[in-house]
Amino acid sequence: MSILEYAPSPETTAPHIRERYGLFIEGRWVSPASGRYVPTINPADESVLAEVAFAEAADVDRAVRAARKAYDKYWRKLSGAARAKYVYRIARAITERSRELAVLETLNGGKPIRESRDFDVPAAAAHFFYYAGWADKLEWALRAGRTAHPIGVCGQIVPWNFPLLMAAWKLAPALACGNTVVLKPAETTPLTALALAQIVAEADLPPGVVNVVTGDGSTGAALVEHDDVDKIAFTGSTEVGKIIARATAGTAKRLTLELGGKAANIVCADAPLDQAMEGIVNGIYFNQGHVCCAGSRLLVEERIHDEIIERLRARIETLRLGDPLDKNTDIGAINSRAQLDKIHELVDSGVEAGATLVQQSCWLPERGFFFPASFFTGVQPSHRIAREEIFGPVLSVMTFRTPEEAVEKANNTPYGLSAGVWTDKGSKNMWIAQQLRAGVVWCNTFNQFDPASPFGGYRESGFGREGGVHGLHEYLAH
Ligand code: NAP
Ligand code: MG
Repeated sequence: MSILEYAPSPETTAPHIRERYGLFIEGRWVSPASGRYVPTINPADESVLAEVAFAEAADVDRAVRAARKAYDKYWRKLSGAARAKYVYRIARAITERSRELAVLETLNGGKPIRESRDFDVPAAAAHFFYYAGWADKLEWALRAGRTAHPIGVCGQIVPWNFPLLMAAWKLAPALACGNTVVLKPAETTPLTALALAQIVAEADLPPGVVNVVTGDGSTGAALVEHDDVDKIAFTGSTEVGKIIARATAGTAKRLTLELGGKAANIVCADAPLDQAMEGIVNGIYFNQGHVCCAGSRLLVEERIHDEIIERLRARIETLRLGDPLDKNTDIGAINSRAQLDKIHELVDSGVEAGATLVQQSCWLPERGFFFPASFFTGVQPSHRIAREEIFGPVLSVMTFRTPEEAVEKANNTPYGLSAGVWTDKGSKNMWIAQQLRAGVVWCNTFNQFDPASPFGGYRESGFGREGGVHGLHEYLAH
């Protein structure tokens, strides 16, 4: 316990939440064909926030038809400059409503308000601003002599860890390139996608250009299987990614997959240690570790192992776990009971395998889903905690002796989404970065994002890129 205690500092903005949300199809809120609605909760206290429509295949079909009509009738015929105005309007509206959206994201997802306020919402707006700028310059994104054509109707399926930001990553380039969209948010986090639908309506986009269908995995599957969808863009687990790859194989549908990861964060003995410690902490505890590119495998050079462990032990005691709406909170709620169970199962497997578990000493709130900041020492590369994605605030620490060994251990994974390297030697930094088989490698930093910079994976982390010029190519037929 520290001598100085923090006074509670809860965010007081109360966003308007409706009792019940319909589906957003053809510019209007409509009832699901089945009449079925399901509650969506706040994972920090398990209270019900709203009821949300459950879309089945008939509703998905209605949304795809609306998207097709909007594509043929309006959107593909508009000039890039005209589309840019709409995309820009969405960006402006997100900025104007940033506080409301941040609170909503925290209420429904469990992440600390500091993160939704300072990262999720500004980054979502930045993506719309960035792609608005491309809409009338698409020819410049292609090789000389090529003409930019949209693909058509895109089905976009997003996960619960960055609900608004993942929706922005998908919608902004799709719209800028002239496609129309049916968006399927995750079952546990529909509210900011529905707020975005409201923003789309108020930005006066032609009806049907953006449609939002809430439901669960079966809703996503109906979208994937729909005959009139030209492209599926999916972010989520490798397991579901494989199902989708099989379902779209042999069809004319285009596909991009942004899947899981098990990133190595490599810290050499000559690294700037104060900065590296913050990079380690940010790499794994940001968003409770619900991050596909989390630095969940820490590889430290053997001779600084004990020092790093002592520092980490002290540092996790300073992390504040609790009410996600409190501005001082570092570790918020786990997104769902199912995810909390998955974290417990994997952590138990680590203990059983003989690794040593270290956890922050703190009280967990009685209600809601919480897990303390944790790390394992004595981890073997064959342990499940070294191989499988835990998707929680749990770090696996391993050691290496030479840069070659660090590279070998880092690449010993079926994933390849991101990685980090910490060393004061520029040439060593570059050499290691070049050897790593990962879509993004951060040097002497971690978790940096910019809309102009592409993001995506290799191997079981998927294919296709989001962000930057690369992200445009995924939404252009060429
Ligand atoms: P998930 O279970 O794969 O779900 C992702 C989305 O797919 C959700 O909207 C889900 O709906 C839907 N879905 C489930 N089954 C489906 C099916 N058979 N067909 C079509 N859609 C289906 O993943 P998650 O557990 O929500 O998210 C965590 C995973 O996402 C982690 O593995 C993480 O690494 C990965 N992720 C990757 C990135 C990246 O950019 N590479 C970013 C964020 C997260 P319901 O939620 O309603 O079931
Ligand atoms: Mg799921």
